[in-house]
Amino acid sequence: MKAGTIVGQETSGHGGASGLDVIVVGGGPAGAAAAIELACAGKSVAVMERTAQPHDKVCGEFLSGETIGDLGAFGVDPVALGGISIRTLRFAGLGVREVELPFPAISLTRRTLDEALLKRATAAGVLVLRGRTVEGLQRTRCGWRLLVTGPSRSYELDAHDVIVATGKHDLRGMARPAGEQSDLVGFKMYFQLAPEQREAMDGSIELALFREGYAGLSLVEQGVANLCWVVRKSRLREVGGGWEAMLGCMLRESRHLQARLSGAEPLLERAMAISPVPYGFVRHEAMGDGLWAVGDQAAVIPSFTGDGMALGLSSGRLAARMLIANESVAAYQRLFCERVRRQVALATRLSRWFVTQPERMAVEVGAFLWPGAVRSVARMTRMREERPVGGKVEECAVG
Ligand SMILES: Cc1cc2nc3c(=O)[nH]c(=O)nc-3n(C[C@H](O)[C@H](O)[C@H](O)COP(=O)(O)OP(=O)(O)OC[C@H]3O[C@@H](n4cnc5c(N)ncnc54)[C@H](O)[C@@H]3O)c2cc1C
Repeated sequence: MKAGTIVGQETSGHGGASGLDVIVVGGGPAGAAAAIELACAGKSVAVMERTAQPHDKVCGEFLSGETIGDLGAFGVDPVALGGISIRTLRFAGLGVREVELPFPAISLTRRTLDEALLKRATAAGVLVLRGRTVEGLQRTRCGWRLLVTGPSRSYELDAHDVIVATGKHDLRGMARPAGEQSDLVGFKMYFQLAPEQREAMDGSIELALFREGYAGLSLVEQGVANLCWVVRKSRLREVGGGWEAMLGCMLRESRHLQARLSGAEPLLERAMAISPVPYGFVRHEAMGDGLWAVGDQAAVIPSFTGDGMALGLSSGRLAARMLIANESVAAYQRLFCERVRRQVALATRLSRWFVTQPERMAVEVGAFLWPGAVRSVARMTRMREERPVGGKVEECAVG
């Protein structure tokens, strides 16, 4: 079947057989944000998302103040979706130190949040196509041709511009350079905690260090606890590679986690895992021959900051606004890099200290003696305030 026919079938009412203005590859927060912004400005946009259904992701599911603000601008209210308010951060190292977060925060499952954003995109006029994997991209005279595998067949689709929002997954032939800290594996498991432990968690997110890794624990909807951790690959190999063996080591090395998880029931058959996790990666230049890279494809901040989604949402919005304003991909990538590079570099340095000795000991002593420093780090790893893009872009009202 010809590309044009498929384009017509997939996009009737969204640009027709001549192709779309923009195709966004990947329907996470970054892709959804870009698509909503573009559709609001009258562009014909499709999001191609490879998963067919709502799904879980390896993520601490912590929404920072910036993430909450950005979601609000898109008309998504995490509290109305069942999110849990987080007011304090507990750092479990030498002892447990609790500080008030310098911003309001919420925890909400990615299964719920990502779907809400895609629903918002559909309402804004975006064509959201699920179960579609983009296998390859080719430059054409007036844009891009995408090779897509759908539920029943493969086909080609044309668009003037393409936004790559595939998260940690690289498109074929477009591997990202390694991040500054690329030797970690990420895991996530949901637990039903014992009632007294669940009660003790109320309103807090907890960060615990163990040998060559660190873990975040918080409650999400229905009082379920999300334990999300990263560990160096070498340590994982040393303990035999399995998540259960790793969990056993973590509990032996962190008395705090051991107490929290005593009597807890795992709720997934096995922990979810992701590798590699390229912490510290920041894209300085345009991707490929003029592709817009957003979210984790633009920059990856270590997970302990709980700010990855904020970077995703703000890069998606910025790329869309600059595309609408006919600015170049290179200018976008430079501006976004400038906005996030210091924050990503600081967080990556700390993330490396967390997993190496003797630096980890210094971090634990520092947090124990000066708990205020934990709060300062939480503040310093936020994004720089945004400046308007050349004053050329109009506000996109998504109410
Ligand atoms: C261990 C860990 C803990 C974290 N904890 C937090 C936290 O607590 N708070 C926070 O804000 N951030 C956290 N993050 C970071 C956060 O998960 C990411 O920064 C965020 O998901 C990036 O959004 P995205 O839209 O770029 O990518 P994603 O959310 O990964 O979305 C990408 C989408 O693209 C789709 N896709 C991929 N390839 C293709 C393809 N070829 N064709 C079609 N679709 C495709 C995928 O299915 C996916 O839905 C954590 C990350 C890790 C690793």
